[in-house]
Amino acid sequence: MTVTFVHDSPNTDVASLKRSIANKLVFAIGKDPISAQPRDWLNASFLAVRDRLIERWMRTTRAQYSQDVKRVYYLSMEFLIGRALTNALLALGLYDEVRGALDELGMDYNELVELEPDAALGNGGLGRLAACFLDSMATLGLPGYGYGIRYDYGMFKQRIIDGNQIEAPDYWLANGYPWEFERFEVQYLVRFGGHLQLEGSRTRWLQTQDVFAVAHDQIIPGYDTTATNTLRLWSARSSNEINLSKFNQGDYFAAVEEKNLSENVSRVLYPDDSTYSGKELRLRQEYFFTSASLQDIIRRYRQTHENFTRFAEKTSIHLNDTHPVLAIPELMRILIDDFDIKWDDAWATTQKVFSYTNHTLMQEALETWPVELMNRVLPRHMKLIFEINERFLDDTREQHKDDVDLIRRISLIDESGERRVRMAWLAVVASHKINGVSQLHSDLMVQSIFADFAKLFPDRFCNMTNGITPRRWLAQANPALAGVIDHYIGKTWRGNLDELAELKQHMDFPAFIDAVAEAKFANKQRLAQYIARKMGGVVDPHALFDVQVKRIHEYKRQLLNVLHVITRYNRIIKHPEKDWQPRVVIFAGKAASAYKMAKLVIKLINDVGRKINNDPAIGDKLKVVFIPNYGVSLAELIIPAADLSEQISLAGTEASGTGNMKFALNGALTMGTLDGANVEMRDHVGPDNIFIFGNTTEQVEALRKKGYNPREFYDHDTELHEVLNLLASGHFSPDDPERYRMVFDVLVNWGDHYQLLADYRSYVDAQDKVDALYRNKAAWQRAAVMNIAGMGYFSSDRTIREYAEEIWNVQPVKL
Ligand SMILES: *Cc1c(COP(=O)(O)O)cnc(C)c1O
Repeated sequence: MTVTFVHDSPNTDVASLKRSIANKLVFAIGKDPISAQPRDWLNASFLAVRDRLIERWMRTTRAQYSQDVKRVYYLSMEFLIGRALTNALLALGLYDEVRGALDELGMDYNELVELEPDAALGNGGLGRLAACFLDSMATLGLPGYGYGIRYDYGMFKQRIIDGNQIEAPDYWLANGYPWEFERFEVQYLVRFGGHLQLEGSRTRWLQTQDVFAVAHDQIIPGYDTTATNTLRLWSARSSNEINLSKFNQGDYFAAVEEKNLSENVSRVLYPDDSTYSGKELRLRQEYFFTSASLQDIIRRYRQTHENFTRFAEKTSIHLNDTHPVLAIPELMRILIDDFDIKWDDAWATTQKVFSYTNHTLMQEALETWPVELMNRVLPRHMKLIFEINERFLDDTREQHKDDVDLIRRISLIDESGERRVRMAWLAVVASHKINGVSQLHSDLMVQSIFADFAKLFPDRFCNMTNGITPRRWLAQANPALAGVIDHYIGKTWRGNLDELAELKQHMDFPAFIDAVAEAKFANKQRLAQYIARKMGGVVDPHALFDVQVKRIHEYKRQLLNVLHVITRYNRIIKHPEKDWQPRVVIFAGKAASAYKMAKLVIKLINDVGRKINNDPAIGDKLKVVFIPNYGVSLAELIIPAADLSEQISLAGTEASGTGNMKFALNGALTMGTLDGANVEMRDHVGPDNIFIFGNTTEQVEALRKKGYNPREFYDHDTELHEVLNLLASGHFSPDDPERYRMVFDVLVNWGDHYQLLADYRSYVDAQDKVDALYRNKAAWQRAAVMNIAGMGYFSSDRTIREYAEEIWNVQPVKL
């Protein structure tokens, strides 16, 4: 008997949307409109919009199955998604309709969207890249899945109290998250601990402590296509089986307590992306989500395939940094222990399936796990890693006899102290492709940390320069500018960002240049209002907005920016009569909670701001603002308002940066070192439209080799001397004159690891050039437009096309 299955296809006109939202409010949320709160209306809108995506989602999934497509799985510890509603409406083309429907219901859309919490399941650039990639994969119709952790607590909320960063937990699920589907039935057992038992040639992993991973799905809509994808995040739920055995009277509460403990694995995001933490819970998190993801990937493959011969043909698994590298021994374990596949076949499959993106060359960020810890938490995986290592080193010895030093360097086990597993090495040995995230970073990667491997496997290494999604970072964040662009070149740039180059043809039309300038000014007013409302500070939108927003870290050199601010302050104090170009210097960013120096920099910015902002001799000539709680939504507000974008990391330390791209796309000029993607941005926007300063990577290296002595710069540059003395003397911290003594010492006496003093003069001189250009409004506006027009290359659509062709070998699904 065939059953006819009929469901409604929701319409998308204003009247239907209005009715849907009302129905959702009453029947899904269960609220009487007379008592409904704005948040109820938001959730009702969410559900109504989600309904309009579901049929596309199902059609895409069916098409993927019927075409037996190759799928790509993007494994990432972090997804910094931000808000979902506006993004979905723009993708569906229903923005005006839903606004209109809410309007007719007496609700203000702008007010409602502000109630949506940011899904802040990431620290910074790495997590945001994963989110931009999901958007591009869906938009290009590529069968891509994101896999990660559904943290109960995302990135902490930052408050600034007395100039200090105060962290508060981010319980983003407090009011529910109607965007996701909880899939109670999709759950996998993830095992920890226990011991191994050999049974013939078979290894059994026994007496483990278990936890379930439960799937939570979000629809990722593609822009201007009916293709959609899925982000599947795992949440931990205690496994009843093992705890039930303890349910005798005396143990009842202990057993329940243990249950709760096992669920801690998905409780909270580690709020540090620049140092590797070495905490056992972190290792457990990494295994928790990779194991669940691998089990899910294999289940999906086996629905349509009987054996594993075509697994690599149909599956690509991408490792976003080393955090998911345990997926490698996990796949080996499943193939060998669960499916009886021979080592060589399992390894050949593994090597075809995996690819890996490196995100940093900085030693302190490279993950290595103690062998002792791995043995205790993941004994089976440790054993597999030893065997992978043994075979790899045997192969290498055959070709490079007697080079014991090489073997020591490339071993997956670092034997120099406590034995540790080098996760990046494991990623390289098991992957068929390894990429860096900008041309400079990819070049440095094969010259430095992976030099030995690049000689062994030259074909594996490649570059995929990062990108950003123009949907969120221009269309959504900057409707004013997007509208101007639409007027001159049409709307299709959203899906083909190279079209922005057509803006150059309008360069000589004053009306166009003026319209771009007006959009910028409106965005500056919008930000000034936010600053006034949230922080009570008054900033003039006519001033030059000089912006540095990103994680607070010494390598990003917010402190160099502060040195320039103090320099400017000194100059104004000395010559108040001069015609200074007014500036507002804006900072935002979170410091890892245990990172003393980064927190001190936040305090310094606030102390310097207090002094300068309250000095009547300075007035509007200079203002310093620290905006608390940086995140995706705040970035969407701040970046479109910037005139100048500070991308001033020490050359060789910022792998790519993506903040740099967002600013330039929104018409800010970059003040940058030749680091990360800044180098390629200079090529694309033209060297006359970007301010480049400071030492190159070669010069940084040379200085380090020859013996860098920062004190020479302190002694010989009188302006710098004065600035550092003000810091050390407590000028900005009269309540605690010693507060910044350490900052002085770090820079002058303790080696200035990030070479701020070496770049100081060139930075300050470049800032003078900024003032000069800004005074020439026409020239500045031209340069701003050249930045917008030159940013087509930095669309994450371009990046993802490159990954799809050169690494994953996946094609779009046909709809
Ligand atoms: C883009 C982005 C980043 C990365 O910025 P960088 O300047 O490249 O470090 C970090 N956080 C948020 C919220 C972002 O949107």
